Amino acid sequence: MASHIVGYPRMGPKRELKFALESFWDGKSSADDLQKVATDLRCSIWKQMADAGIKYIPSNTFSYYDQVLDTTAMLGAVPERYSYTGGEIGFDIYFSMARGNASVPAMEMTKWFDTNYHFIVPELGPNTKFTYSSHKAVSEYKEAKALGIETVPVLIGPVTYLLLSKPAKGVEKSFSPLSLLGNILPIYNTYGITIHREVTAELKAAGASWIQFDEPTLVMDLESHQLEAFTKAYTELESSFSGLNVFIETYFADVPAEAYKTITALKGISGVGLDLIRGTKTLDLVKSAGFPAGKYLFAGVVDGRNIWANDLASSLSTLQALEAIVGKDKLVVSTSCSLMHTAVDLVNETKLDSEIKSWLAFAAQKVVEVNAMAKALAGQKDEAFFSANAAAQSSRKSSPRVTNEEVQKAAAALKGSDHRRVTNVSARLDAQQKKLNLPILPTTTIGSFPQTMDLRRVRRECKANKISEEEYVKAIKEEISKVVKLQEELDIDVLVHGEPERNDMVEYFGEQLSGFAFTVNGWVQSYGSRCVKPPIIYGDVSRPKAMTVFWSKMAQSMTARPMKGMLTGPVTILNWSFVRNDQPRFETCYQIALAIKKEVEDLEAAGIQVIQIDEAALREGLPLRKSEQAFYLDWAVHSFRITNCGVQDTTQIHTHMCYSNFNDIIHSIIDMDADVITIENSRSDEKLLSVFREGVKYGAGIGPGVYDIHSPRIPSTEEIADRINKMLAVLETNILWVNPDCGLKTRKYGEVKPALTNMVSAAKLLRTQL
Ligand code: GLN
Ligand code: ZN
Repeated sequence: MASHIVGYPRMGPKRELKFALESFWDGKSSADDLQKVATDLRCSIWKQMADAGIKYIPSNTFSYYDQVLDTTAMLGAVPERYSYTGGEIGFDIYFSMARGNASVPAMEMTKWFDTNYHFIVPELGPNTKFTYSSHKAVSEYKEAKALGIETVPVLIGPVTYLLLSKPAKGVEKSFSPLSLLGNILPIYNTYGITIHREVTAELKAAGASWIQFDEPTLVMDLESHQLEAFTKAYTELESSFSGLNVFIETYFADVPAEAYKTITALKGISGVGLDLIRGTKTLDLVKSAGFPAGKYLFAGVVDGRNIWANDLASSLSTLQALEAIVGKDKLVVSTSCSLMHTAVDLVNETKLDSEIKSWLAFAAQKVVEVNAMAKALAGQKDEAFFSANAAAQSSRKSSPRVTNEEVQKAAAALKGSDHRRVTNVSARLDAQQKKLNLPILPTTTIGSFPQTMDLRRVRRECKANKISEEEYVKAIKEEISKVVKLQEELDIDVLVHGEPERNDMVEYFGEQLSGFAFTVNGWVQSYGSRCVKPPIIYGDVSRPKAMTVFWSKMAQSMTARPMKGMLTGPVTILNWSFVRNDQPRFETCYQIALAIKKEVEDLEAAGIQVIQIDEAALREGLPLRKSEQAFYLDWAVHSFRITNCGVQDTTQIHTHMCYSNFNDIIHSIIDMDADVITIENSRSDEKLLSVFREGVKYGAGIGPGVYDIHSPRIPSTEEIADRINKMLAVLETNILWVNPDCGLKTRKYGEVKPALTNMVSAAKLLRTQL
């Protein structure tokens, strides 16, 4: 019985790669220094897997930035603006594509399926020329081999690559990158211009006997021509696979029946990898559809997306069921997807108590779990390991820290009922306007103001008990007062306190809620060198005491203008955490919603008239498969409404969303029934406006961001006015708000002041014209 790992985190247990990259980008270290760190990381990862006993160890899952960008480099598909002239692609061109350079902006980045990882979107056109321009897969394979470690090189499959690509700038929107399939296959196989140099041939020549092709788009709802592309691609590649075992790896959901039929029918393929964690129907599918004789099934039973220790006994029974179908020597124990979506190594967690730690497994521990199961199936069960695991599973089930009956009951009571504010939104807006008395085109910001070094230091020192509580409160109070004064000077209508007491919009709340735990090094790559450290929700969630009222009240006392209370919504807290896997996600979400509801009510009682409940991540939790989306949207939107259905008509509820591509969920957004929504928009005016042009009725307040806060660029008054005018053409004057795209936390005051000055001038200018 063999073991396999789909992919491994590349940042290192202490984010070594992040620091090496950033130092290189800052010109503080050389390319050699960076390469040295990368080599060391790769070697230690391979050794660790080899020592654990893993048979199929992945290579080429390391990346200096992103695996899709690596594929773009391999194919030589560099957009023209980077002036690539041929030859092996080096750091200069590679990082220019990833991050832009002094004269050319970066390529677009978007989310990798439903994860929080972002990849660099390939830009392809009919004239894109493909040449084999990065030998990274081969050199990593050889590098491992030189260490005496046989690996399975991992490539992003040709069809997934094309399906994730977009038409290059200037190319017809209707152009389908998939039409380039015939052009990229030569790079993958041996029939390229330079025979025996293209990637599979070169890997074979180097001694590889297995290659993994990642084709996760197979789990999506594909059209028949897209599915046919898989057959075409792998039939054409077949002859170059002779003497090699090539398998197709899928992940993040179950493979739909049609797609399953297609891939299991491919002759040149030696096996298929399936996700049995997110793919809740996978086992039944294999049982009913069967599995082709002689092929390998890589069974992803260890969760690559979460941090929980595997329930080994339960996984073993799944594996045994599969074994009965595919045969003993054809079943390979694997992870559900690359482990890059989980934290790296539990060993470095010094602050978690031993009970919680016994419930967890990060990437390094998951490798051991995979191997232990493979051995158990081969008749060499490590009894001690299995019984320790069983003990941890039952301690988690019965721990009083996990269960809070009162919370369970309250959450259970929510199901099936509809929570809505009694009055409709236009009547509420009228009632609010009587109290708030705002001008038309009211101005506001999204919440955070620039986070200075000083602020970060104050928070750090407070956490480490280096300064007293009073000193901390004094420092934060001063900051809030500065931010309030600035907004009054700028003449903004609805103010914010600036969020100086928060380092992160989820962590801040998680730290004050019960049922959450925090890691010291549980980082997960988000994009490039950026990582996030999601909190762990391990138990029933409740709110022991008010979380934001103290600061919001203080801020409101400094001004006569309305001060927004600022909360993170339940869906966003859920989507940006590692969520417990012992109850459905919606149940956890309802619990968080009840906790936030209490906070909303306390803010209202403290005299806060406008409360913003951010749902920055609502859209990104949307399931990949259409058949599952309605259910998600239903409970997600319901959770949001639970937080504020109890407030008075005169209390104005705002929400904010990042990521403007929400045309497909506009009806759910309306159903959230917020009084005002502010949304990230400035990079896609047209898309958003098209929804309203198509006649969607929108009666609540809406503030599509009028400038991009991700860039240091300062927008002019005219430009902002122009944008507002475009929106006024499709939206009623009395519902439009004027605000930036998102929080200002990452910007400098030197940028924020002039940008907001121009924003307010634009609003005032237009008020005189209406
Ligand atoms: N209120 C948060 C802020 O301004 C919202 C951040 C976000 O949407 N990502 O920072
Ligand atoms: Zn945002």
